[in-house]
Amino acid sequence: MSGTSTIEWTEKTWNPVRGCDKISPGCKHCYAETFAERWRGVPGNAYEQGFDLRLVPEALPAPFSWRSSATVFVNSMSDLFHKDVPTEYTRRVWSVMQLADWHTYQVLTKRAAGMRAVLGGASSFPVLSNVWLGVSVEDRKYGVPRIEELRATPAAVRFLSVEPLLEDLGVLDLRGIDWVIVGGESGPGFRPMDEAWVRNIHIQCVQQDVRFFFKQWGGFPKKKAGRLLAGRTWDAMPERVRKPYPGTREAKARREAAA
Ligand code: SF4
Repeated sequence: MSGTSTIEWTEKTWNPVRGCDKISPGCKHCYAETFAERWRGVPGNAYEQGFDLRLVPEALPAPFSWRSSATVFVNSMSDLFHKDVPTEYTRRVWSVMQLADWHTYQVLTKRAAGMRAVLGGASSFPVLSNVWLGVSVEDRKYGVPRIEELRATPAAVRFLSVEPLLEDLGVLDLRGIDWVIVGGESGPGFRPMDEAWVRNIHIQCVQQDVRFFFKQWGGFPKKKAGRLLAGRTWDAMPERVRKPYPGTREAKARREAAA
């Protein structure tokens, strides 16, 4: 799946890798797995191999074909820092993001240590101003330690996806974090989210001057519970890159103005 997204905090998804496997409680009802496994064995379908991890080099050029500047969620159907994704392949993904720089890319992982090892190691990945790095933080045991890994990883913008929030996260150190998204689990068998857990995070974001985005309460159906917190929506986001597509009149005007 690459294209327009219904996820509240992004505009498009791009999947140069497909498939993954579960590593922590937040993965229990992984929507990507449910979706992919529905197509296992269907010849010609992008998910013919279900949720088995595979590289999709033919999807690498997709951002070049999107001419309007967009916010792009990278690997909504996988995890770029899965151990079976070779560093050289990640480098190709990086090159696309560097070249197709009229988009803003959101790279979200549960393999925070893997991300730090790849991006913070000796492999010299550039820090790109149009690439945001994020980690999932669903609980105290698995999620919260990822924040420290993220803080130690070179990045222009760092964010937390606190979804599905499974328990009270206690006191959070949000130094170096630019944005926090909070959401509850949705769908059959969802694990309910307590309002006090959300408010605890919200207060800490206000105190530590971090942008806060409340995605949804979750539940089933999720539309019923909606996304109001304290009677309003919370949609703060870091500033996105809004460069024009190269070759357009606007891009030319900008180039001339900068010359
Ligand atoms: S890491 Fe993400 S994509 Fe992978 S199984 Fe867990 S929830 Fe699904």
